[in-house]
Amino acid sequence: MARDKTLIVGNWKMNLNMHEASLYVHQLAKLVKNRRDVEVVLAPTALTLQSLSLQVNYRQFKLAAQNFYWRDQGAYTGEISASQLRGVVQYALVGHSERRHVFHESDKDIRAKVQAAIRNQICPILCVGETASERADGETLDVIHDQLIGGLANVTSEEVEQIVIAYEPVWAISSGDGNGHNALPSDVKKVVAIIRNQIKHLYGSVAANNIRVLYGASVRADDAAAYLAIEGIDGLLVGGVSLDAYGFNEIVKKAHKGSSLAKNTEGGI
Ligand code: PEP
Repeated sequence: MARDKTLIVGNWKMNLNMHEASLYVHQLAKLVKNRRDVEVVLAPTALTLQSLSLQVNYRQFKLAAQNFYWRDQGAYTGEISASQLRGVVQYALVGHSERRHVFHESDKDIRAKVQAAIRNQICPILCVGETASERADGETLDVIHDQLIGGLANVTSEEVEQIVIAYEPVWAISSGDGNGHNALPSDVKKVVAIIRNQIKHLYGSVAANNIRVLYGASVRADDAAAYLAIEGIDGLLVGGVSLDAYGFNEIVKKAHKGSSLAKNTEGGI
């Protein structure tokens, strides 16, 4: 997977019913321009994925699952598998902090999901990030390290470049434990460097250069450019604002402009 496009992913979480989702995509489709340097991915609830897959123009929007179960089929009441999502979505979130902390998903679950996504030709977006208390205890680097090792175990060097890593400090997510305090770009830059270093250590420098790394947590239209300008960042994972068509489109527009800015320029917030 190439890093030549900036990736903007909208995580709708548990919002919008089928009718609302369809209307919202209709509204977004009128606003969001196709740009060769930006890839826009929508992550609605599982219920709406099938109908939206028939509604969206794939040149304009790709789809992502917010969650799935790692086995391909069987007696797992209430679950949806990556093999059932195959052909419907191009991406899937794995290890989002709400899955880790609200639904107690372990690194073992997350690792199995990464592999299930790859096995089914779905690009996993592996989310990593520290909580407020881990940050206060100075454990950020250890947490990121453990979550990467945990999520990527058994992923081969051929497979790793298909994965997207999203750094989402839990304390900065708008639903997180820090009431959505913004992370400083300088702090994000350090963690992104650590992520790429860890990938280099595990898979070598080609993989470390090629893997896509996103930032996410309380990103808004007015600070998106500053995060996009951080060295090593290839896009954004947007939660709350992805439900506001105008705000989300402003972020997509910044991704287009931002991709023509020098990647090494770090902006301030
Ligand atoms: C998220 O939960 O993935 C996220 C980025 O949320 P928000 O933008 O609302 O903080």
